[in-house]
Amino acid sequence: MSLNIKQTIQELKKSNCSTDTNFFQAVTEVLESIKPIIDNNKIYEAHNIVKRIVTPDRVIKFKVAWVDDNNKVQINRGYRVQFDNTLGPYKGGLRFHPTVNEDILSFLAFEQIFKNALTGLPLGGAKGGSDFDPKDKSDMEIMRFCKSFMVELHRYIGARVDVPAGDIGVGSKEIGYLYGAYKNMTSLYEGVLTGKQILFGGSHIRPEATGYGAVYFAEKLLELNKMPQLKNKICLVSGSGNVATYTIQKLYHLKAIPVSCSDSRGVLYDKDGIDLKLLKSIKQDRKNSLKLYTKTKKAATYIDIKDFEENQNNLWDIACFAAFPCATQNELNEKDAKNLFSNGCKVVIEGANMPCTPQAVDVFLNNDILFGPAKAANAGGVAVSALEMSQNAAMQSWSINKVDKKLQNIMCNISQDIHQTAKLHQLGKNYVKAANITGFKKVADAMVALGV
Ligand code: NDP
Repeated sequence: MSLNIKQTIQELKKSNCSTDTNFFQAVTEVLESIKPIIDNNKIYEAHNIVKRIVTPDRVIKFKVAWVDDNNKVQINRGYRVQFDNTLGPYKGGLRFHPTVNEDILSFLAFEQIFKNALTGLPLGGAKGGSDFDPKDKSDMEIMRFCKSFMVELHRYIGARVDVPAGDIGVGSKEIGYLYGAYKNMTSLYEGVLTGKQILFGGSHIRPEATGYGAVYFAEKLLELNKMPQLKNKICLVSGSGNVATYTIQKLYHLKAIPVSCSDSRGVLYDKDGIDLKLLKSIKQDRKNSLKLYTKTKKAATYIDIKDFEENQNNLWDIACFAAFPCATQNELNEKDAKNLFSNGCKVVIEGANMPCTPQAVDVFLNNDILFGPAKAANAGGVAVSALEMSQNAAMQSWSINKVDKKLQNIMCNISQDIHQTAKLHQLGKNYVKAANITGFKKVADAMVALGV
């Protein structure tokens, strides 16, 4: 039988909230990619695989009551979407941000299933968080919030059940408070969260993993496509947070020339290559503007977001060989993509989640630009989280070298797997479809083997 995507979405809308637009969009995109391997597949049909994979195992929603610095009780919403545990314990970050809702988390948890499957490690897919905004809160408020959040969440997680990590608004400080609360409530010192500090069970290379991984992935994909490597090539990077910083660092290790970075207020261009030490010292305090960089490096240019041309991020009109969008979703649109193409860009690798709009991705695919989708390219973070789980389970701490080697292998394998899938299904360089098919097949085949 042929997969009817419209009907599948209609049925999903009946049981979900009809305003789950991000989630329905993500499901539609994945179903469109995997349609060729679903159509007329009698085994998948007999096991109702499509419906099973688009339906979350459970969505946990709870109240978080906490006390602020004025001794007032505040209320927030907490969530954990445990989407699928076919391949391993539920795994995915916690996001604390005012925009968090069930739709966003369902979409992220759904995507996480396939990203985690691509790593080849035993990981299911999940996501969670709260509409709590840590940005304007004191340390004590954040600690009290994390404790209240964990009072509810600890009932549903465990080292072999569901292992949350950080995401936007949840860094190593928040993970520490959450882990401390879990330990106090359960008396268990187990790897129930990843992204912990080394002091209490964290892994080396976890902070670097997503940025390093994106560059390892890029090098392998270039090699598989018989294209030049990154050495001596001009690269654009956006963002100046965790992923961007370590992407720049790894590009330097490979003797590439990263010439840009950005934040939510503006774009920085240094034709001699970004001075990473200077950038890190400025961004130690996130409130600092990137403009400070030009005080030391007079030849560098800073463009404030207010001076951007309408509907255009000025970063993407700089000539380059490779672009690594590492800041935020939808930061690179169709016009930016056309600029990159006309200025000679040959490869775009998504370090952030969904930084390129669907129209921008079409420009890349239609113009033979090598495009590495987030699901594959930024899987390094969750891969090292899985390595943290292994270390915790064995009560060990591996060396920097050992973790880095494993990360490198995992990212090369992801490149190879999606390259092979693209060949097998005659997808050309459409690694968006290839990543979806590769991830989906791993989960679907395991679902069949495990039975209902
Ligand atoms: P950080 O919070 O450390 O950094 C985000 C960066 O993006 C900051 O420089 C921030 O600037 C900038 N930024 C935010 N909004 C905008 C905007 N509208 N325009 C331009 N720049 C903006 O996050 P991470 O580096 O950890 O994550 C970046 C992306 O990578 C996210 O999409 C995340 O989901 C994804 N990701 C991260 C992983 C990880 O391991 N950290 C793993 C997989 C994916 P400012 O400081 O001004 O806010």
